[in-house]
Amino acid sequence: MPLTGMADIVGPARAAGRGVGAFNVIGIEHAEAIAAGAEAAAAPVVLQISENCAAYHGALDPIARACLAVAHSAAVPVAVHLDHATGLDLVRAAARLGLGSVMYDSSRLPYAENVQATAGLAKWCHDRGMWVEAELGEIGGKDGVHAPGARTDPGEAARYVADTGVDALAVAVGSSHAMLTRDAVLDLGLIGRIHAAVGVPLVLHGSSGVPDAGLAAAVRAGMTKINVATQLNKAYTAAVRRCLADDSALVDPRRYGSAGRAAVTAEVARLLGVIGRSR
Ligand SMILES: [Zn+2]
Repeated sequence: MPLTGMADIVGPARAAGRGVGAFNVIGIEHAEAIAAGAEAAAAPVVLQISENCAAYHGALDPIARACLAVAHSAAVPVAVHLDHATGLDLVRAAARLGLGSVMYDSSRLPYAENVQATAGLAKWCHDRGMWVEAELGEIGGKDGVHAPGARTDPGEAARYVADTGVDALAVAVGSSHAMLTRDAVLDLGLIGRIHAAVGVPLVLHGSSGVPDAGLAAAVRAGMTKINVATQLNKAYTAAVRRCLADDSALVDPRRYGSAGRAAVTAEVARLLGVIGRSR
């Protein structure tokens, strides 16, 4: 059950009222850990590579190829997704490498320009068999901005999906990117209204700032793809820090890398238990 298209993971999950975990990769250890956590939970999973992650590696190619290799050898369905792309070159690189889906983020543009840019990109991607996620109602927290007050309007969301032809929609419902505390309060009523108005899967960004009960409630209210990045980085770094603090003579990166990877595996399996249940 190797590399799987995003539609084949997210579509059945939406129909069943289940959440799908979409976890951001930093290095190859993250990809290995996320796949292992999904195998432990017997759940499908999404490996996401952000534009910032590609920049960290100097290019999309090395980390994308690593993720595709991990997906191919996994025992559960795994999709590999380009997250928060703002540049068309990166989307073209994703297509060339065989990534089946992209999130194109033009949420900072005024509505009409966002629609025009996203519709063009969606057509380009659909012509190549790729799945497209877009964002409406800028979700705070990227590049240090913290705007938990942003909200997506249900009627505008329905128009936006119709006008752009996107396959999934990231919405602003109370979460914010890169939160280190898990105390964001989601607007569950708004999630329900957007879910009722929009026929495509909804995506929650900034899920690391939402407590377990909030994530489960968001899925019950109609969220499908649950994006998690910071929460895994917290688990990874805490385990590495513990390992290094415990042994000042330790120099082998495989030793602390294993500890970080094991912590991420456990957290992915735990989170998939929270969000992967049906309504
Ligand atoms: Zn995001």
